[in-house]
Amino acid sequence: MNDDLPALSVVVPCYNEAAVLDQLHARVSTVCRQLFADDYELILVNDGSRDSTWADILRLASEDPAVIAVNLSRNFGHQLALTAGLTICRGQRILILDADLQDPPELLREMLPLMDGGADVVYGRREARAAEGWFKKTSANLFYRALRHMVDIDIPADTGDFRLMSRRALDILNSMPEKHRFIRGMVSWVGLRQVAFSYQRQPRVAGETKYPVSKMVRFALDAITGFSIQPLRMASYLGLIFGVLGILALFYAFHSWVTGSVVAGWTSLITVVLLLGSAQLFVLGIMGEYLGRLYIEAKHRPLVVIESIHSLRYQASEMKA
Ligand code: UDP
Ligand code: MG
Repeated sequence: MNDDLPALSVVVPCYNEAAVLDQLHARVSTVCRQLFADDYELILVNDGSRDSTWADILRLASEDPAVIAVNLSRNFGHQLALTAGLTICRGQRILILDADLQDPPELLREMLPLMDGGADVVYGRREARAAEGWFKKTSANLFYRALRHMVDIDIPADTGDFRLMSRRALDILNSMPEKHRFIRGMVSWVGLRQVAFSYQRQPRVAGETKYPVSKMVRFALDAITGFSIQPLRMASYLGLIFGVLGILALFYAFHSWVTGSVVAGWTSLITVVLLLGSAQLFVLGIMGEYLGRLYIEAKHRPLVVIESIHSLRYQASEMKA
């Protein structure tokens, strides 16, 4: 291992998190100083916040050499903000954390020995989700179970992005160029030695969730389309089922014609037309999801735009942006 690299990088994406930043900094610093003295860095990525988050991050970076302040040019979303931090960090081990302290940084003390025991990824598995709403818990539960059915790789259930990674695992993750990033799944894809670590998920210390239902749906779509073509296959099955039903209906129609009992049958007709119409649109929609993603990948745009990086420890020119 290269001794110039800090022993640990903590990477935190922040979107409108002014209410929690000072607490976050205090708690992370306490744990890290105890474990690594000053041989660590705390990367705070401002994801186009609209409150005073960036000013606060800058203030922390001007007081504490361990803090590296990263400003994105606009709001890119949780997974891309995290990606920006992960490409900039230099640590030999990397801890991914949410700004809201739902995943206690103090757990690092228990996660480190697992990594020293040979694991490349130590991922947090949520045992209980204190004070999270009924809807969030149920939807997350359903989502992770459905996802596990649809994908070939082993994406563990009840697992967020809270995890400790080795440098070699991160280097592989960083080499994956896809735009729609579902990071916890991509880390599973990497493989190597991954170990679970059970913990109690805490309530947010302040502020409110930055994941409204619309973002949750987008996140779920990225996860499914990013790791599975099962929905496309489902479309073929659906076509097959309707094909068989159609043939049966044909027999019936032929029979009615032969026996001369041809009926008016508007109700059955409109039912079939509506059902078939919506099934076709549904299938087209699924194909559109994949096509749209192909289109965006094909443009080869950079994943995120980093506007500036500030740190007492490094010159901006030393940092890869
Ligand atoms: N986040 C971000 N950009 C966004 C939305 C969220 O960087 O567009 C960050 C947010 O600041 C937090 C993390 O992603 O550090 C997780 O968000 P949050 O805690 O609101 O999600 P939840 O825990 O409710 O799922
Ligand atoms: Mg949270």
